[in-house]
Amino acid sequence: MPAAIDAIRTAVLEDAPGEEIASLPLPEAARGALVRADEQEMFAGVPSEQKDPHQSLHIDEFPLPELAPDEAYVAVMASAINFNTVWTSIFEPLPTFGFLKRLAKESTWGARHDLPYHVVGSDACGVVLRAGSAVRNWKPGDRVTVQCQHVDDQDPSAHDDTMLATNQRIWGFETNFGGLAEIAVVKANQLMPKPEHLTWEEAAVNGLCNSTSYRMIVSRNGSRMQQGDSVLVWGASGGIGAYAVQYVLNGGGTPVGVCSSPRRAEVLRAMGCEAVIDRKAEGYRFWSDEQTQDPKEWLRLGKKIRELVGRDVDIVFEHPGRQTMGASVFVAKRGGTIITCAATSGFMIEYDNRYLWMNLKTLKGCHFANYREAWEANRLVCEGRIHPTLSRVYTLDRTADAALAVHRNETEGKLAVLCLSPEEGLGVRNEELRAKHLDQITLFRRFEGEAAR
Ligand code: NDP
Repeated sequence: MPAAIDAIRTAVLEDAPGEEIASLPLPEAARGALVRADEQEMFAGVPSEQKDPHQSLHIDEFPLPELAPDEAYVAVMASAINFNTVWTSIFEPLPTFGFLKRLAKESTWGARHDLPYHVVGSDACGVVLRAGSAVRNWKPGDRVTVQCQHVDDQDPSAHDDTMLATNQRIWGFETNFGGLAEIAVVKANQLMPKPEHLTWEEAAVNGLCNSTSYRMIVSRNGSRMQQGDSVLVWGASGGIGAYAVQYVLNGGGTPVGVCSSPRRAEVLRAMGCEAVIDRKAEGYRFWSDEQTQDPKEWLRLGKKIRELVGRDVDIVFEHPGRQTMGASVFVAKRGGTIITCAATSGFMIEYDNRYLWMNLKTLKGCHFANYREAWEANRLVCEGRIHPTLSRVYTLDRTADAALAVHRNETEGKLAVLCLSPEEGLGVRNEELRAKHLDQITLFRRFEGEAAR
């Protein structure tokens, strides 16, 4: 490890004061997980499930770019795998270099992002190393988590719900210098306080998924769940699903959690989700062949939901996309909402529109979260009301192993990546709050440990 990076890591581990961190020399380069533009055609003709991030995701050095006035360098102690890193590493649905080129056209600062490599990662937890001249609320030494909304606040379109801004982007996916690196470059309005009862890796996994689920379930920009609502959550033990389940429970609702194994069903029950559907055990075949859906199977799912909670669901938390959307539109109650943020199994969607219009249902699109929503979601983590769903921890060198595991749907909850943190378990300041919620904080990790034994 180069001396400058080592000195930064040592200072953070020793809890050095901000002035000392501010005086440390910055390295010229840092290591990070990146894909290369000259390899973006490498998987041409390869079926999606056979594309292996080990071939495309490299751990390499990249020069640190100059810092814009509204940005900060963050020494990343830990980061996380999100599905968007899987998308980037298999170059689907598009290589991400086009996003970087578009950003480059907007300004001279934007031009820094257009490089023959893309440093990925949309989550990070660490310490501010330097803050640009226009940064007011953050200074070197601040312990932070990063939310991934990247927005140009000089654009008028960014001054309502910032997710509606025309130049809104996801940091580390549509921008360069993301979180899976020793040092990340972020805008000051991406920073949030680190939950101090969590380790670096526990605090690193929440930003993207927790904020997304907050907006989808709680926010007035999402489905605005009410007390007593029942919510069908697809992939309920997965990245966004496990936060959705927590929001439904916290808000006085009833989650109906869908998963695909007895172990996942057990995780969900341990979270307090009593109504669980193991979609594999039930053997649903919503598509009888590539072109034809089977409404009898939608009906079977609807019956199962009624059996479990006594009525139809008010809300469907939808993200698998093509495989499930027909069923999702069907099973939502009359007047209910299907809220969608993704299409993992395919984005060309088909559903029977009669069930939507005749039953006055709403199909609503949702994407990440604005700064305020991400801040509120982070506050709930800081207060111990929402808990990390960390199941596995990898080193930066093993980022591709982690991305492949997510790509193959082999994991529950979230996967963390240690960037500068040398081991798990570091970074906790509030032991009292931690002790109060330890069972919930470590729930996914314990299940993972039991499975490995
Ligand atoms: P994960 O892989 O962690 O979890 C997804 C879960 O979905 C899996 O655990 C699986 O659960 C379930 N699933 C996968 N395929 C199917 C299928 N064909 N039918 C039913 N269920 C399925 O991913 P995330 O939760 O992190 O992300 C989910 C999707 O949401 C991704 O496409 C991601 O890109 C997107 N996303 C979008 C965001 C946005 O802001 N727009 C933000 C975050 C994520 P099981 O097998 O147990 O049923």
